[in-house]
Amino acid sequence: MPQEEAVNTSCGTGVTVLGSGSRGNAMVVHGEKSNILLDAGFSCRQILKRIEDCGIDTASIEAILISHEHDDHVKGVRLLSRKLRAPIFCNRAAAGEVRNRGVEGRGIINIFSVGSPFVCGEFRITPFSVPHDARDTVGFRIDAGGSRIGVATDLGYATQAVKHYLGECDLLVVESNHDPLMLRNSGRPWPLKQRINGRHGHLSNEDCMRMLGSVLASRTRRVIFAHASEECNSYSLVEEQAAGCMERLKRTDVQTMVARQNAPLSTCFVG
Ligand SMILES: [Zn+2]
Ligand SMILES: [Zn+2]
Repeated sequence: MPQEEAVNTSCGTGVTVLGSGSRGNAMVVHGEKSNILLDAGFSCRQILKRIEDCGIDTASIEAILISHEHDDHVKGVRLLSRKLRAPIFCNRAAAGEVRNRGVEGRGIINIFSVGSPFVCGEFRITPFSVPHDARDTVGFRIDAGGSRIGVATDLGYATQAVKHYLGECDLLVVESNHDPLMLRNSGRPWPLKQRINGRHGHLSNEDCMRMLGSVLASRTRRVIFAHASEECNSYSLVEEQAAGCMERLKRTDVQTMVARQNAPLSTCFVG
C-alpha cells in the first residue's frame, strides 16, 4: 500500500507543517480521504520535495489555500497549481497578487469572502480576518471528519474574532514569532522592528502564550507554534515557553510542537 494511503486512511484529520518562518510557509492539511495545501511560500520544487519526503502523495493535494499575498506564503503558487493541477482558494486581495505572478485560466482561482464558510471536498473552511500588514490577511478554521483545526500564522495581535475562531479547535497552528528582547537587541533597522512589533506585524511569544490562555478548549489536544523568527527567536525558547504556558494553564495534556523553517515537522493527527 502506498504510504500516502496509509497516512490518510489510518490516521485521519491532521496537519503536516512543511516549513514555517519568514523565508517560507506551507503546510498540508489532511482529511480522511484527501489533502489540501495551506500556503505555498517556498519554491514549487522545494514544496514538492518536502511533501514527498513526508510520504504524502502529491496527487492527493486537491486544493491550495492562500492566507495572504506576502512572498513567504505565495512564492511557489504559480508552478504548484499547475504541477498539482489544484485550484487556488484565496480572497480578492490575494487573488490580485496571485494573478500578478502569472496564474491564469478558467476556474483556477476561486475567491472566498472573509467570514463566509465554503466547502472544498471533504473540508469545510472558514476564513477569518487577522490584523497583519498585507491587504487582507486571513486565518482559517477547517472542519473535516468531525475534527477542527485553527490556523493563524501572521497576526499583529489576537482580536476577539481571532479568539472566537481559534476556540473549540482540536488542533491549533499559531504564530509565535519573536522574543521582544531579542527583537529589540537585534541588528534590524528601527522601522522593521516597529513593523514586526506593531499591531499589524507578528505575534510575540508572550502574546501568543497569552492568547492561548483564552482560546485553549477542553477539546484542544495539540498546538503547533509557527512562523518563529530565526534571528529574533529560538526554537528552544518557544519550546520552553510553550511548556511553561501549558503548566500555568494546567494543560500539560496538550502536546506542543514548534515548526521549523528548514525541515518539515512530523504529521500531527487529531481525527
Ligand atoms: Zn505576512
Ligand atoms: Zn509570513
